[in-house]
Amino acid sequence: MDKDRLDPWGTSAVKDYERLQSEFGIGPAAPLLSRFKKPSPHLSRGIDFGQRDLGRILDAVDNNKPYAVMSGIKPTGDFHLGTKMTADDMVYFQSLSRKATVYYAVADVEAYADNGLSFEQTSKIATRNVADILALGLDPERAVVYLQSEELKVMRLGTVFSKGVTNNMLKAIYGERQIGLYMAALYQAGDILMPQLPELGGPKPVLVPVGADQDPHIRLARDLAARYDDEYGFIPPSAVYHRLMLSLGGSDKMSKRSESSLLTLDDTTKDAARKISTAFTGGRDTVEEQRRLGGRANICPVYDLYRFHFARDDEHVKRVYHECTEGIRLCGECKQEATGLVKAFLEDHHRRRDSLMGEAKELLAKSRKYLSSSGK
Ligand code: SF4
Repeated sequence: MDKDRLDPWGTSAVKDYERLQSEFGIGPAAPLLSRFKKPSPHLSRGIDFGQRDLGRILDAVDNNKPYAVMSGIKPTGDFHLGTKMTADDMVYFQSLSRKATVYYAVADVEAYADNGLSFEQTSKIATRNVADILALGLDPERAVVYLQSEELKVMRLGTVFSKGVTNNMLKAIYGERQIGLYMAALYQAGDILMPQLPELGGPKPVLVPVGADQDPHIRLARDLAARYDDEYGFIPPSAVYHRLMLSLGGSDKMSKRSESSLLTLDDTTKDAARKISTAFTGGRDTVEEQRRLGGRANICPVYDLYRFHFARDDEHVKRVYHECTEGIRLCGECKQEATGLVKAFLEDHHRRRDSLMGEAKELLAKSRKYLSSSGK
């Protein structure tokens, strides 16, 4: 891969978000904040930093018009804190209007192409992943959850799109990749545009919440929406982009590819405590230096735990940042506080998730029935 090309299948953290925005034409999210009655913590803390056509979704909210929130998960293992961010955004944008429907794709085709997991393996993981997002607050009454490989509408759109793209186009977006990944990308464009098919209510605004590194998929889907506009009347999908959380090792983004520096929603409280205790920090070499120079919260994955997920409110995030950078707090006590917050979250989440496994299976079955009855 070229050094500067965003790789949706890679592990690199994004270093310069401003450059990313100007290079790929991603608009800032901040100017739209005043349009939200109650911005989510991701928006108010600048974690959701960028957007494309987010105003179109806000117009739909203001005018009580239908819109879809579409995203998915690659079912390769337990939900981790990186995937939780996308799930939190989906839940938040669903909550903004009774007219919002979530489409949640379990990207088993991509899991096969990128990770070699069989469809049988991924189907088992999928139910647990769906229970996770239910426990995070997804309203199942306004959600359609499906396995990519089982959804004929997605497969058909992927096939239609394959006639409209050339190898060179895909290479320009993704670099030289195996054909399986190109196919997975076309099916993913099918996922993103499916909610606009006539049998699912026709053209409507669709918001895709994603990590910054997934922008190539958004650009491809928007390009295809324009190419197939005459045939389907597609509205170009909107997107909201979140920053990538640092892995506990401090170098890459948190992803399933670096398991040891990953916190998952399935970790025991003991495992989580052990991982946090050995995490990289932005602390200094000695206590004296830390008191004098302050810590470096901006490169610290422990600070990311507070900012991205576990701080009680925005004031708490500000306090941690201030105390860290002013040398008031030391890393040991900071990790201890973070561990307490993570443990409390995990205990609650495990209880809720385990009680929702039955509902997750029902939601998958109900969605399958809904999609198959809405035309092939
Ligand atoms: S005090 Fe906390 S936020 Fe600051 S560098 Fe240490 S662990 Fe990170």
